[in-house]
Formats: sequence, C-alpha cells, structure tokens
Amino acid sequence: MSTPTELRARAAELESRVPPLIAGPRTDDERMWLEKAAALRAEADQQEEREWERTGRIPCSDCGTLVRTETLETLPAHNCTAHQRARRHRATEK
Ligand SMILES: [Zn+2]
Repeated sequence: MSTPTELRARAAELESRVPPLIAGPRTDDERMWLEKAAALRAEADQQEEREWERTGRIPCSDCGTLVRTETLETLPAHNCTAHQRARRHRATEK
C-alpha cells in the first residue's frame, strides 16, 4: 500500500503532464489524468485522517511536521514557518 506522500507524488506527476489551459482544450487523456490525480490526493487525505484517528497525529499540509491535535479544523502552534523554511532549505540542497 502506498503512503500519502507517495500518492501525492504520483498525483503531482500526473498533473505535471497536463499543459496549462491556455495551451488549448484538454484531451480525454489529460482530463483522465487530472481526475486520477484528484482521486489520489483524496485517498492520501483519507489515509492521513484514518492515521489521525488511530494516533491523534496528522502531518501539517504546509510543513509536513506530525502534529498532535484534537481537531482537524485547526492545528496547534508548532513553529510552522520555521519548519517550512527548513524544508525548503533541504529541498534546495538536493
Ligand atoms: Zn506546519
């Protein structure tokens, strides 16, 4: 079974194959890729919610840090900006 990260990576890969709308009407294939990508993202969200029900933790969608939270509406403070900066830093080092 794929992890949410893998599912989102696959969704991003599919979306990257589709040219921007200004390039002209989408083909059937392109529409199918976008639908598939949306389904993969929805599955990733569902997996994270199930994981949250089990563990009480969910990864922040902005910085990726696992945060313990009572509700999915708002996440408690977890130094999000600093984590995002660190994450961008790691991404540029690769
Ligand atoms: Zn965060």
